[in-house]
Amino acid sequence: MKRLFVFLCTLLVVLSAFGAWGTGAWAEQDTEPEWWWKKDKTVQEQPPLKGGPEKDMRDLTPVNNNVLAEQYPGIVFVRGPGDANRVALTFDDGPDPDYTPLILDVLKEYDVPATFFLMGARAAMNPELTKRIDSEGHEIANHTYWHPDLVEEGEVDILVEEVNRTEDTLADILGYRTRLFRAPYGFLYEELVEELDNLNYSVIAWDVDSLDWEDLTPEEISENVLPIVVPGSIILMHDGGSPETDRTQTAESLRIIIPELQEQGYEFVTVSELLNIPATMEEAQ
Ligand SMILES: [Zn+2]
Repeated sequence: MKRLFVFLCTLLVVLSAFGAWGTGAWAEQDTEPEWWWKKDKTVQEQPPLKGGPEKDMRDLTPVNNNVLAEQYPGIVFVRGPGDANRVALTFDDGPDPDYTPLILDVLKEYDVPATFFLMGARAAMNPELTKRIDSEGHEIANHTYWHPDLVEEGEVDILVEEVNRTEDTLADILGYRTRLFRAPYGFLYEELVEELDNLNYSVIAWDVDSLDWEDLTPEEISENVLPIVVPGSIILMHDGGSPETDRTQTAESLRIIIPELQEQGYEFVTVSELLNIPATMEEAQ
């Protein structure tokens, strides 16, 4: 009897140890760093965001954009002048073959322009879509080539390389060089801003974050936007993301946001119109 008891106890210990190992192995597999971008969403795999998905990065602390805007007036902007009922819709991380067309369709339906901060690597992969954004009257701007966390990279040279490679890519497709820049995750510090100014870029942040990267419903996205819009607001949204993200809700939220703001008397303009600054390097000459 005693032997049977000892045997059963041993068996229990061995089984639970095996169980724990099994769970650990699965957990490891689930969090394997490259797991999320291997999932095939479209025929062509979109270049991943080098710095990681938008929602994993928001707890880091670079220099606040409001502080930078005060420190560098006329170079860093979080919003436009408040003396006219004008606002700018902005979309980051595209062009995306699944979601950018959905967003372009809604914008066309309401006949409003927007500003698209494109990743160079994604523009290179989607040149026709990049041309479509441009030909439908929207503004195209620079959001780096690979979407790195520029604060973590911590090197001016990396910024310059990312910006120039994106600009070369966009110039090949569009025939002009853009001059608005937005940092991935909005992460910057003084030295990077000064280099962007040397390169003749305006740095565009935002004052209204739709938080559409949090997988919200169209209603929730519009509730994040509508109550805090003021004249001059720059509204942050996303047409691209990581392969597991779905921007259908962002496109749908525009059907709430655009008519409501128009009803309140707002006019939608591009960022360069809102800020009254040149949109391209040619215009800035
Ligand atoms: Zn981004």
